[in-house]
Amino acid sequence: MSSNVHAFELGRAPKCVDVGRPDRTDVEAAFRTIIRWAGDDPERPGLIETPGRVARAFEEFFAGYGQDPVLILEKTFEEIEGYDEMIVLRGIRFESHCEHHMAPITGQAWVAYVPNGRVVGISKLARVVEAYTKRLQIQEKMTAQIANTIDEVLKPQGVGVVLKATHHCMTTRGVHKPDTDLVTSRMLGCFRDNPLTRQEFLSMID
Ligand SMILES: [Zn+2]
Repeated sequence: MSSNVHAFELGRAPKCVDVGRPDRTDVEAAFRTIIRWAGDDPERPGLIETPGRVARAFEEFFAGYGQDPVLILEKTFEEIEGYDEMIVLRGIRFESHCEHHMAPITGQAWVAYVPNGRVVGISKLARVVEAYTKRLQIQEKMTAQIANTIDEVLKPQGVGVVLKATHHCMTTRGVHKPDTDLVTSRMLGCFRDNPLTRQEFLSMID
């Protein structure tokens, strides 16, 4: 496996030059086109600054491309007095965008692992969730990416990740099913092999 493939599988941000990243003026012009296509006048006072605002909003929505989840997890702590029980960060709120409609996906993540001699700062678990969710995504893929990265970098005894989210492409358009959410999970190591470990984790999810 080439190192490029490896980096991609870990979800490292593709280099901006690889995708020919346009500059801000091109992006604002594109949003003016979309406004005209929707049927409105991008030059009217209420909309004149909208393309700039939307571009800044998109910078936030897609900030994950500039974050490296592997780097986030690299600093670990080994003075843990033999702690080897489950560590669970519950109910991490996230916002993402589906790669098929660029519509919001909003939900919560539960991230758990059983350490193997070292732990990571708990805020780093939330930052890994953010690095993967603030991209164009599908829920299944980001669930796997979060779990796989924690597994590969921390090398714990096991990892469990559950995501529960509402997809606005389903709730506000298309089939219009407002009260649905999608639950995805990825279990690795002892979370996959030991039903009691998995059950303990799942019992912490509401
Ligand atoms: Zn969608």
